Amino acid sequence: MPVPRPKIPIAPVLSRASFSLARGGRPASVLDAGQVRKVTSGRVAIAMALRQMGVGTGDEVLVPAYHSPSMVPPVLWCGATPIFYRIGADASVDLDDVAAKTGPATRALMVTHYFGFPQDLAAIRAFCDARGLQLLEDCAHCFFGTHQGRPVGSWGDYAIASSMKFFPVYEGGCLVSARHRLDAVKLRPSGPGFEAKAALATLENSFSHGRLPILDAMLRLPLRLKDAAWTTLKSRRAAASGAAAALAPASSDSGFEFEPRWIDRRSAWFSRAVMACASTGRIAALRRRHYLALAEAARGLPGCRPLFPVLPEGVVPWQCPLVFDDPEGVFERLQAAGVPLVRFAQVRWPGVDGATCVNSAMLARRVLALPCHQELREDELAWIAGQLRAALHVQASAA
Ligand SMILES: *Cc1c(COP(=O)(O)O)cnc(C)c1O
Repeated sequence: MPVPRPKIPIAPVLSRASFSLARGGRPASVLDAGQVRKVTSGRVAIAMALRQMGVGTGDEVLVPAYHSPSMVPPVLWCGATPIFYRIGADASVDLDDVAAKTGPATRALMVTHYFGFPQDLAAIRAFCDARGLQLLEDCAHCFFGTHQGRPVGSWGDYAIASSMKFFPVYEGGCLVSARHRLDAVKLRPSGPGFEAKAALATLENSFSHGRLPILDAMLRLPLRLKDAAWTTLKSRRAAASGAAAALAPASSDSGFEFEPRWIDRRSAWFSRAVMACASTGRIAALRRRHYLALAEAARGLPGCRPLFPVLPEGVVPWQCPLVFDDPEGVFERLQAAGVPLVRFAQVRWPGVDGATCVNSAMLARRVLALPCHQELREDELAWIAGQLRAALHVQASAA
């Protein structure tokens, strides 16, 4: 019999504590950076930001070689060509390479604040101003935080964020601008099917992790009835019209696809309500605390170190990225144990490899990121740290 192990959520799930007012101090976020439009994903917000910039056919957009493949299709949707620039071994923007790759057709520079740690925004902003480039701040990992006293997202011409990475919501992204009006960006609702899906998927995800047990018990019968009705409805629809359009975007199911039909669509009421009511002070405080605990657990271990050794004030991490000497062995052991892990940029846009950027290939291979979100319980965090120790000690004693 395998030892039962906790089913640890890789991303935040709804719990009663999500709305706790116990922790004070509302942290700054991209929502404070400027005018905001709440859409259904970060990638849709990227497409809308590029459209607002006037990026079109024949233009070039500078995209980091260390990326999520979901960042590229929005560039192609605009008719532009992505040009991949290098990053340093610490994931910082290589401005010399950006300068070398900036040409007459270059319109915009996309900059990602990896794992929640802001890039050197003053230098990057000055670079863009000197070259007449528009700056798109990709705050997908960095919903919260300040940099040199200003909220993240306020340095770019536009900024985007991915709500699902920080809040217990099924869908959501933000388009933000500190420098341009968004009045012309009008969002449309997506109908009752989408609204229902956004609410129910959030609740069911929470129930499946044992959060909200009382509500789970109360809703068990109605949700079963819903599942039955759903199955009937879907088979009828499929019979009537072939494949029916999905109710929610693929971005909500951790895929990398880009679906233009979600452009200019408003995020669901339920997701916006959760974001409005969630205790953001708790999100910031617990993410920082969990990050420090995991980084501390990694510190004394052989063959492993935090990618960002210090957690500066104002940073609210997305995850805790650790750099491993022998990532493959550790990855397999942690995955077999059931530790939730992310290998950011392991899948990159076709053609982006070690020749494009040696550091991107190195980080994509050697960094394993552990969750540090606000809904991890103390026992879950301790269990993850224990698994990490075990995986590395097995490796050290085998060597
Ligand atoms: C997740 C991610 C995105 C896209 O966000 P979605 O909400 O998933 O569309 C953009 N940039 C980076 C760096 C990401 O990790």
